[in-house]
Amino acid sequence: MGNTYLEYLKNHLTLALLLLFVFSLSFTQNPFVSAKSHSLIFNESNAYNHISSQLDFGFRVPGTTAHNNCADWIYNQIQTYVDEVDIHDFSIQKESQPSYYCQNILGKINTNKSKIVILGAHWDSRNVAEKDTYNQSQPIPGANDGGSGVGVLIELSRVFSLYKDNLDCQIWFLFLDAEDQGYSRGMYGLEYWDWSEGSKKFVEDIEEFYDSKSEKIDSFILIDMVGGTDLQFIRETNSDAILHNQIFREGRKLGYNSAFPFNPTEMAVIDDHIAFRDYGVPVIDLIIDFVNGEWDYHHTHSDNLDNIDPTSLKIIGQTIESYIKSNFIVGLPIWGYYVAVFSIGILVTLLIVYFIQKKKIKKKEKK
Ligand SMILES: [Zn+2]
Repeated sequence: MGNTYLEYLKNHLTLALLLLFVFSLSFTQNPFVSAKSHSLIFNESNAYNHISSQLDFGFRVPGTTAHNNCADWIYNQIQTYVDEVDIHDFSIQKESQPSYYCQNILGKINTNKSKIVILGAHWDSRNVAEKDTYNQSQPIPGANDGGSGVGVLIELSRVFSLYKDNLDCQIWFLFLDAEDQGYSRGMYGLEYWDWSEGSKKFVEDIEEFYDSKSEKIDSFILIDMVGGTDLQFIRETNSDAILHNQIFREGRKLGYNSAFPFNPTEMAVIDDHIAFRDYGVPVIDLIIDFVNGEWDYHHTHSDNLDNIDPTSLKIIGQTIESYIKSNFIVGLPIWGYYVAVFSIGILVTLLIVYFIQKKKIKKKEKK
């Protein structure tokens, strides 16, 4: 009996368990792969250059040539990386003002998957500098306010295109127009415009872009003003608490504790996420305290490249990359891990039994 058992163990079981172990490891993502910044491929220089390119067009205010040219440029940038680009065009006309042609630009990857994660940013820039001390009626460069979100989103479209086959969700890269022309300190960006006009229009027509019966929008993640120095995100109180905690935890896992603090400033912000929240989607606005915070250039002429820090672009880009990797990689993440640990346990036990038996037999032979 002893000998047969040993032979069987030697020939089959150990091998089978080893194979099971290796097999389960191949399904395992979370414990070994994610949350290591060196395994992330987001490149902040690319994102920075994308901001610079936008500023080269001039002020991206609806109704201007710069605005049109920038839309074409965003379209061309993302179509290299995504499976499909859709233009959502609309016009805005207030009181006796002229009608303005606007466009939301939507790039999609993995259109065959049923879950949808939307990454959003606004691409228009503000037509006035109401918070500056001079030339208040002149437009601002919008390097951070507008430009930074667009730069990060274009780079993320490159990043996710490289491992889209490993993701079990669609990712939408949504560039929203007409966000930043609302009323502040006695001034409209464009006369009588509200904030976040583009996202409201998009959500009105959203069912032209997906099938609400067979597809589901998992979440809407908005990034706005993510490129300033000393990046520190707030707890935006219109955002979903669970999504907020998940993304902040992801950032801290990468060591970005000051950007994603344990006790962030709490503030409610009117931004492009509101329309999606009202549509019933869990949303987050990843934004800084632009009222009393460290970054003083909001809606001023100093919102330019000098006040953009590539480190901040890296922090937000890597955090979103890592969040998607941790939550949407295909496979059996935690499951595979437990199978692996369980099989190591059995393997070790069987080996111990094997050696004890072997010793006993040797002793018997000596006798
Ligand atoms: Zn703004």
